[in-house]
Amino acid sequence: MATRPSRWCGKCRKVHAGDCPNRVAWQKPVKAKSGRGGRPWRRKRERVFERDGFLCRECLRQGIVTVVTLHGTKAGICDHIVPKAEGGSDAESNLQTLCQPCSDLKTQLEAQKGRKQ
Ligand SMILES: [Zn+2]
Ligand SMILES: [Zn+2]
Repeated sequence: MATRPSRWCGKCRKVHAGDCPNRVAWQKPVKAKSGRGGRPWRRKRERVFERDGFLCRECLRQGIVTVVTLHGTKAGICDHIVPKAEGGSDAESNLQTLCQPCSDLKTQLEAQKGRKQ
């Protein structure tokens, strides 16, 4: 039977054998990935906005041209057409550009729909 040699652990800064027994001390709790927030998401959002010509798709459906920007007060929302809660994916085909009011409205409607179910 092989004995595992004790060694200096750079993680917990103690000497021990094998896997670090003090993991909880240094390991950050693993958060569920939200899909939003990281750099890849930001890049994807940019691509979706460019694809949609920086126009709110929902407004466009009603014949209104609403230009959104990446940042600032007119910043648009990269919206999941099929909500993630309903199994929608992060694929660009399931993403659309919305202005803040349209996004708020959609979120509201989705919440209502969720409550009825
Ligand atoms: Zn350790
Ligand atoms: Zn809109």
